[in-house]
Amino acid sequence: MDLRSDTVTRPSEGMRRAMAEAVVGDEQRGEDPTVNELERRVAVWLGKEAAVFVPSATMGNHIAALLHGRPGDQLLAESTSHVLLSELGGAAVHAGLATRGLAGERGMVDPDDVRVITDHVPSAGAPRTAMVVLENTHNAAGGAILPQEIVEEVARRCRERRIAVHLDGARLWNAAVGARRPVKELAAPFDTVTVCLSKGLGCPGGALIVGPVALMTSARRYKRLLGGAMRQAGILAAAGVYALEHHVDRLADDHRRAGELASSLRGAGIAIVDADRVETNIVQIDVSFHGLTCVDAIGRLRRAGIGLSPTPRPAVIRAVTHLDVGDEDVRVAIGCITRALDCDQGKGCQSGTCWSEHDPHVVPSEPKKTVGE
Ligand SMILES: *Cc1c(COP(=O)(O)O)cnc(C)c1O
Repeated sequence: MDLRSDTVTRPSEGMRRAMAEAVVGDEQRGEDPTVNELERRVAVWLGKEAAVFVPSATMGNHIAALLHGRPGDQLLAESTSHVLLSELGGAAVHAGLATRGLAGERGMVDPDDVRVITDHVPSAGAPRTAMVVLENTHNAAGGAILPQEIVEEVARRCRERRIAVHLDGARLWNAAVGARRPVKELAAPFDTVTVCLSKGLGCPGGALIVGPVALMTSARRYKRLLGGAMRQAGILAAAGVYALEHHVDRLADDHRRAGELASSLRGAGIAIVDADRVETNIVQIDVSFHGLTCVDAIGRLRRAGIGLSPTPRPAVIRAVTHLDVGDEDVRVAIGCITRALDCDQGKGCQSGTCWSEHDPHVVPSEPKKTVGE
């Protein structure tokens, strides 16, 4: 069972049919009707003027950096955000931006930190802050939904200072479904937004950058510059159109299953991070409590037949629910994870037959900690 990410889903029967039947054209010439339709629909969903289909959300974020910054400018983002940790420094490579991480509380930066940095110019050599990037839901913060009132406050301050605000909304539909708010409302404070089709929506690829027409005209040029202009991309866009029709409301099922996974695992003694606040589809486990490192824990789980993945926090791993995980899978996962992690310094499983007894090579390498440490 693969709970490493919501990117591991394979296109469903219906999605494949939609892809096979897609009406296509040369996307690079603006002639692919399915791409155009997807762009139109996503712009409407987000309440923005225009959208540009791109191969990945990573490229969408790179384009945002190119749109909003000039070389030597500064990009501010929460310190464990995807733009800072998982995009190979693209904002620096492509747009020449210096990046600066801000402390976060469940993925949300403090508006006062933004104000201090943007108001206080410590020296004539200080870089100009060109953009602030927020991430909703926040991946490293366990799929946390950003508090919209604080998002609006950050955006207001940025607007007053002519600083662009970009939303990395790779999981924006998760945020909207989880918060029971329209996607449009969550996107409203931002100049530009990236959304991803290959996460919870279950598409084999694709993302969009969304914003005002003038910026999206430039975005299209940057997309081509980065090598992202495609040809009969309607085959991929058709998956997106299908997902927007069939895979949005069901995200609530992923969230419910993640909540069940978190509460059952906690009940079984597994150290779940913020177990009461699993808001969307990501469940984090602090394996240091079980005397394990990330690598040990993921290895044990893998050998138990279940895939989990690391997070930016050294002792925290995550399980992600998605389209290919059903209720029965969650029940199986609870048993599997409990057996694989419920070990006491290599003395064997406390709850009976521990698979690690069959694997003498696995020795927990970190001292066991107590809860709350
Ligand atoms: C996955 C992800 C991205 C990048 O998406 P790709 O389409 O895989 O490039 C960007 N931001 C966040 C928060 C993500 O989780």
